[in-house]
Amino acid sequence: MRKELHNAERLRLIGDLTGVFAHEIRNPMQVVRGFLQLLDSPELPAASKTQYIRLSIEELDRTNEIISEFLLLGKPVTDNLEKFDVGKQLQRTVNLINNYALDKNVMIETTIEPDCFVNGNMQRLNQFMINIMKNAIEAMPNGGTVQASCIVVDKSHIEIHVKDEGVGMSKSEVERLGSPYYSLKKNGTGLGMMISFQIIRTFGGTLQVYSEQKVGTEVIARIPCVKYSPSLESSSLQSG
Ligand code: ADP
Ligand code: MG
Repeated sequence: MRKELHNAERLRLIGDLTGVFAHEIRNPMQVVRGFLQLLDSPELPAASKTQYIRLSIEELDRTNEIISEFLLLGKPVTDNLEKFDVGKQLQRTVNLINNYALDKNVMIETTIEPDCFVNGNMQRLNQFMINIMKNAIEAMPNGGTVQASCIVVDKSHIEIHVKDEGVGMSKSEVERLGSPYYSLKKNGTGLGMMISFQIIRTFGGTLQVYSEQKVGTEVIARIPCVKYSPSLESSSLQSG
């Protein structure tokens, strides 16, 4: 049975992402500001002028894309079910959160196998991946590496792994994961994991957390996969 999130909870979750969002928007803004200052100089060669304008436009377009991505995360989730490649979405999520991670001295390494197709709500799975990667980054106050991977484990399942080298959790902390409003962070919402368990359940999958204090944490989502070959489909479209 699926329990929908209350509006207020959804808003709190989005509030949880404002730090990431502000950072992603502020960076390109500062770059554009710098170019505008340079453009103000009367001796600037025409070639540089053209280049600075082009780079500014690129930065603004990127900002626009980031805003669209974040708006998508905040949108009430529709009931759209579709077949999609989890690996592609994992890469998209990493691109979205990468600057935020780098700013905290966290490197995200990815291993993505092709054709990790599942059936479900893509927007929700992206939300899941943002939640657990954000937790992984936040678990490493002094930086480190996050390993994010998407692999086919047998003919019927794929797995998403997110592993950090962070503070880790005790056994009882792991057991409390997923309880609403359970957070050990100063500004945490304690909703991320609850929602994450719920999302993986809607995919018919399971979520496991392995953690050791001062060593790190690995979150593994195992989801039934579907057979889907887009290359076959596009060739049949071409021939048809
Ligand atoms: P929030 O991040 O807002 O605190 P979550 O539901 O995402 O809420 O996480 C609940 C708690 O679980 C966190 O406050 C943290 O103590 C713990 N936690 C979650 N993921 C990790 C992790 N990767 N490493 C260490 N602790 C974690
Ligand atoms: Mg969280």
